Amino acid sequence: MIKYIAYCRKSTDEPDRQILSIEAQVAELEEHAAKEGLKIVSFITESKTAKEPGREKFAEVLKEIEDGKADGILSWHPDRLARNSVDGGKIIYLLDTGKLLDLKFPSFWFENTPQGKFMLNIAFGQSKYYVDNLSENVKRGNRQKLRRGEWPNQAQFGYININKKIEVDKKRAKYVQKAFQLFATGGYGYADIRKFFNQNKIFNKSGHELHLDKVKRILTDPFYYGVMKFCGELYEGNHPPLISKKLFDKCQDIVKLKTRKVKNNKHLFDFLGLVKCGECGGAITAEKHTKYYNRTNRTAEYIYYRCSKKMGNCSQKYIDKGEIEKQLKEIVLRASLPPHAAKKFLEWADKDANSEKGKSSGIISTYQLQLKETEEKTDRLLEGYLDKIVSPEDYQKKKNELIETKSLLNSKIKEVSQNGAELNSALSAHKIARAKNSCHDLSIMAKTVGSNFFLKDRRLSASFKKGGFDALSAEAPACRQGGGAESATSQPLSSPYWLGDRDSNPN
Ligand SMILES: [Zn+2]
Repeated sequence: MIKYIAYCRKSTDEPDRQILSIEAQVAELEEHAAKEGLKIVSFITESKTAKEPGREKFAEVLKEIEDGKADGILSWHPDRLARNSVDGGKIIYLLDTGKLLDLKFPSFWFENTPQGKFMLNIAFGQSKYYVDNLSENVKRGNRQKLRRGEWPNQAQFGYININKKIEVDKKRAKYVQKAFQLFATGGYGYADIRKFFNQNKIFNKSGHELHLDKVKRILTDPFYYGVMKFCGELYEGNHPPLISKKLFDKCQDIVKLKTRKVKNNKHLFDFLGLVKCGECGGAITAEKHTKYYNRTNRTAEYIYYRCSKKMGNCSQKYIDKGEIEKQLKEIVLRASLPPHAAKKFLEWADKDANSEKGKSSGIISTYQLQLKETEEKTDRLLEGYLDKIVSPEDYQKKKNELIETKSLLNSKIKEVSQNGAELNSALSAHKIARAKNSCHDLSIMAKTVGSNFFLKDRRLSASFKKGGFDALSAEAPACRQGGGAESATSQPLSSPYWLGDRDSNPN
């Protein structure tokens, strides 16, 4: 005869009033057992949620079954046993392994057969669906609040929650404001801002100094100028802003600058793998040195390239990164401009500032038109979502796409208005060769136009690749040296060979 454990559960926070109280469940189970002639070995009750695994009493039930003290469970409904996939899986597994022989529910029919287990799995699945749905409802509630301009979470640093509203924390707010102002000057790091908070006895809730991550989060949180960022989406808040958007944007520029510094470190050694030692043929390696200047209290970084000397004796000395960059630029420059583009280049170079500006503003207005279209699309999407034509998932996905497009267009507009119109693509190599801080691009371009880069006596040499680049460089007769390799630096930078007569006499 199967020995049943009766398990009753109702969590205190269970919002479903349809669910019987534990006492009522016990009464129901006793009645059911009597009617069906079931033998109950123990009653186990628990007032805990089944949303997450880790119920103690439920673990007891499983243990008794594992130990063979019982081989059946009696409960009011499968959702009393499990509302998460882990606990549900444990029950099914006990059935599969034969330790659990039967389950009985007054409100649910179960039979220990493949079909019965399948149905049980669905019942557990439904319980999980109920829970998931509930958290989805919470999320939906949050979105509702956010759309009304209310912040659904704990107030940001510098604000307090009062009567479900976000109010300014008078003590902290002015220091948060000041922190933004200080940071915007560019002369303060995150640690300096924390120091400023410490000096003014502005600490976190537990009275400790703020974590540096927290300082960074504050300085990058649009909440302070009135926009709430929630799950990657932006909402207009109706809380009083502490700072202007302008000040916030200024701070974001500083943040970007600080991140770029770190990023750039990865590209410190852009020319590795490109150049070999001209004396011994060994690989060239790079080193970074930091020098501290007492007088000005500043540190400066220097990057050197030198022969790794792994091939044995070699007398070559190091070369400064700036020098190698300069010489590489000269090489790339030599191959960068097809003669037929030379005239164009000069025209472009001669263009007055006004026509350049005109070109830029043409591009900008195109971008602005696209920006406007994107905004209209966003509006239509929102309408579709509110009319329930668009599903929440699609809405979220599409909206993020549109926001991305928007920010991309905005940054393009910014770029064009700062740097003028894009250059003719024929000049891109040229542009790279002339650009500052473009070592990474320069290295790639160098590999495109040339090969066999050798470094000897602090002089860089290379051979140009076939397919235009070699012909190009051949236009400069002074460059030709024995063996096809050419010295890159023997040619003055402003070589007149760009103005080759091919252009004036096409075909
Ligand atoms: Zn060497």
